[in-house]
Amino acid sequence: RFSTAAAVEEHITPPVDVQHTQLLINGQFVDAASGKTFPTLDPRTGDVIACVAEGDAEDINRAVAAARKAFDEGPWPRMTAYERSRILLRFADLMEKHNDEIAALETWDNGKPYEQSANIEVPMLIRLMRYYAGWADKIHGLVVPADGPHHVQVLHEPIGVVGQIIPWNFPLLMFGWKIGPALACGNTIVLKTAEQTPLSALYVSKLLHEAGLPEGVLNIISGFGPTAGAALASHMEVDKLAFTGSTPTGKIILELASRSNLKPVTLELGGKSPMIIMDDADVDQAVELAHFALFFNQGQCCCAGSRTFVHERVYDEFVEKAKARALKRIVGDPFRQGVEQGPQIDEDQFRKILGYIKSGTDSGATLIAGGDRLGSKGYFIQPTVFADVKDEMKIAREEIFGPVQSILKFSDLNEVIRRANASHYGLAAGIFSNNMDTVNTLMRALRAGSVFVNCFDVFDAAIPFGGYKMSGHGRDKGMDSLKNYSQIKAVVTALKNPAW
Ligand code: NAD
Repeated sequence: RFSTAAAVEEHITPPVDVQHTQLLINGQFVDAASGKTFPTLDPRTGDVIACVAEGDAEDINRAVAAARKAFDEGPWPRMTAYERSRILLRFADLMEKHNDEIAALETWDNGKPYEQSANIEVPMLIRLMRYYAGWADKIHGLVVPADGPHHVQVLHEPIGVVGQIIPWNFPLLMFGWKIGPALACGNTIVLKTAEQTPLSALYVSKLLHEAGLPEGVLNIISGFGPTAGAALASHMEVDKLAFTGSTPTGKIILELASRSNLKPVTLELGGKSPMIIMDDADVDQAVELAHFALFFNQGQCCCAGSRTFVHERVYDEFVEKAKARALKRIVGDPFRQGVEQGPQIDEDQFRKILGYIKSGTDSGATLIAGGDRLGSKGYFIQPTVFADVKDEMKIAREEIFGPVQSILKFSDLNEVIRRANASHYGLAAGIFSNNMDTVNTLMRALRAGSVFVNCFDVFDAAIPFGGYKMSGHGRDKGMDSLKNYSQIKAVVTALKNPAW
């Protein structure tokens, strides 16, 4: 039924070496002040890939001091915007040259299919850097016509030292979504990677320095949340904090920021996004899209279409076909050609997902595909589908972050709007219909930061991304993200001769 056990147990040697495992502070790779290291694991097997320097509060202090100096005294905020843009463009060119090594490292550390890393994610990161390189010399203020004898300018300045904390599900893309706009605006950065996936950011940061980034502008700390992450969020010399991760951690971050120096915070948090299949849908296409919306990236997407609402008129056919599609999904070693799904990130997530599957069965949902682990080693999970899911079930309310699709039945438009919006989250929503009036009603009524109509997970660099409600504040990507990293200064000058 599923891919053979061999596909998840016979492993391909990753075509890359780990080169950088230290912290990056002030342009140098250095050990942690404590000398401590921690292992980063291969999700295919649970084996150690490498031991990485474990940064904590003292390293955050060193990195913030370097970023502060680079901001207050260094060339970065003072060089022309065109020069900053050129460095980002050279960085993109270097990543293009090393596309396949970067992709291999990302797959090894994270478990996502190599074809996805090499053909989608690294190229998206490159595109994103070129997009923000294009913005660097187009960020400017205004002259506003105020009442009275005054000349009023509004300047957009970099905000200063930016702290950034990222998760493990898209290590490189999250890195790019954060550093791209911050660098384009002229800020300096201390970024903490996720403890599960420290390797790829270190590799590409080396290339960014080769491209001409001055020392101290980008500092990378590998380490854990409650130590390194909390120290960054509560640091008095950090002028702004950007976070992507879970909603509970987002709440802690906001508290740490308010208890320290009230630094502004942007949050990109979890979701429980509805994917709505209307009765005019071509069921084959709808099944494929809903399958992609949930299973992409092993189901580890904050905006995963994790509540598949299907109109009662097409429900039975949809359920049968969704089952067949999940049973056909190719799970295996992510370096193997044609594999659609690799292992989950780690043991914790693996156990948590199996717990949700049990909860689905216990609460009376109908398990129609999968439901168990795959193989005996590593963190592979069978593509799992539940039908007859009810709104109040835990699997319909909480973020599973795994390859578990929940199918819910509905009968009319107002009902599905009410049910889709009945969530604390509001990150994304999907609509599948060719009826213009239905689409227009839904896209206006759904309370979500991204609405995908007859598509899903389109992550172009120019499209803003972020959440309503407890899915976060602020937007990543697009021109809106530049606001996160700019300070606004109003300069009011009295006019001696108001006639001119
Ligand atoms: P998390 O929120 O615990 O971790 C995200 C980042 O925050 C990591 O870098 C982590 O080290 C850091 N962190 C953790 N605790 C911290 C603290 N007290 N102070 C400062 N930083 C801290 O998320 P996770 O453990 O990686 O995953 C758990 C859940 O988070 C997932 O099941 C999923 O629901 C959600 N998640 C969401 C996204 C997203 O893109 N929205 C990404 C990953 C995980």
